[in-house]
Amino acid sequence: MTNQTFFIDNVSFAKKNERLTGELSLTDCPRLNELLVHSAENSHSNNRPAGTISYQLQGKTDAAGQHLLDLSITTNLTTTCQRCLNEMPLKLSLKFNYLIGDVSDVEIEAGDIDSDEVDMQQSSQAMDMIALIEDEIIMAMPIAPIHNEDCGEIITQSGDKPNPFAVLKGLIKS
Ligand SMILES: [Zn+2]
Repeated sequence: MTNQTFFIDNVSFAKKNERLTGELSLTDCPRLNELLVHSAENSHSNNRPAGTISYQLQGKTDAAGQHLLDLSITTNLTTTCQRCLNEMPLKLSLKFNYLIGDVSDVEIEAGDIDSDEVDMQQSSQAMDMIALIEDEIIMAMPIAPIHNEDCGEIITQSGDKPNPFAVLKGLIKS
């Protein structure tokens, strides 16, 4: 599936406990695609961005009658390690819980919800799911991705200086 768009009526979706699963390709997510580095020598790809994004969207209504959406996203993408500059897999497994409502009422709702765990989504008859999924992945992406384990063959940059992004990452972690 490429160049798909889909919009849901999010209140109706939640009321009916609907569930939607599917896959997006990077062709569907051009902004995300631009953030990922694709090696030019990846000849078999024919400029077609590699990688898949799987999603599952579940609508539900809680005991208080509030409409909710649960979104799970898993990615199987490729980015560039900022330490060794080789390709590395970018596998994200994300979960989001949204409360559907009128965002202008957010102050009223804020007392009821833990804002760390639940995000507000404006009730909409045409919620753009691809844009939402793309935004969530972009926000979840590491600023300077590096391999979790040893990089193996390390390409030493001239002057043997540490990559500035790798240093930044160390500062944030500590
Ligand atoms: Zn690496």
